[in-house]
Amino acid sequence: MVFKPPFGGWGIDVSYSIFQNTWSLSPHLGVGVLMFRILFFKYLVFKPPFGGWGSQNLIIMTIILFGPPGCGKGTQSALIADKYKLKHISTGDILRNEMELKTELGLAAKSYVAGGKLVPDDVIIDMLMQAIKTIEINQNGFLLDGFPRTIAQAEALEMKLAERNKQTNLLIDMQVNEEELVKRMLIRGELTGRTDDNAETIKKRLQVYSELTYPVKTYYQNLNKCVSINGLGEINEIFKTICTEIDKHTK
Ligand code: AMP
Repeated sequence: MVFKPPFGGWGIDVSYSIFQNTWSLSPHLGVGVLMFRILFFKYLVFKPPFGGWGSQNLIIMTIILFGPPGCGKGTQSALIADKYKLKHISTGDILRNEMELKTELGLAAKSYVAGGKLVPDDVIIDMLMQAIKTIEINQNGFLLDGFPRTIAQAEALEMKLAERNKQTNLLIDMQVNEEELVKRMLIRGELTGRTDDNAETIKKRLQVYSELTYPVKTYYQNLNKCVSINGLGEINEIFKTICTEIDKHTK
């Protein structure tokens, strides 16, 4: 028997809190474009008895996609997250969403993003910690895109993962020359209307990248968790190279 849900449908999200080792059920009901969470159930949380049903042993994989703005992280992230069933966390996307919704976080971040500067570490780290709290039942870990962008962010991430005896599996450094980056971002700005993709802000973002973000690569090189790949070329070829590296480092 096929049951067709009315209007926008209903369902139950099952998510796993990797740090508390709990599963939670969150039923929702969609009507048109609106989605109602059924609050009564939202807090229905199962704490696995006797140390769990093996859930602590879930393999939580963490991959960082790294590189300067415009190197193609967003495009590759979608492909990687899909293939390896990872939760794609783009701090830039989260911030743009918050800015559009004019939330407190969005309003606080706006001037930094518009000026091509980094949003302060404490704000971003807090945001990331929220994002990595849970994964869906069918996900194997995280794909971080645009985080960490400072050493402090990298340290905070590794400290959090260490609570689960985990660490980042691999940082993939996508290399693209500056001329190409500027060209790509100017085109993207025209196509999408993304306001920080203008000549002046691009220059600032590239400067911030080399001063504050580039050292993150050395941090992971010292942990022996870094691989560099050529980010120029056909999307599918780059994707294949990335997959080869992930397979090599996560076996
Ligand atoms: P992106 O889409 O990753 O290029 O990010 C766009 C903008 O969001 C950046 O230029 C920063 O202003 C802000 N942002 C994104 N991720 C971070 C982060 N990890 N730390 C600080 N600021 C960030």
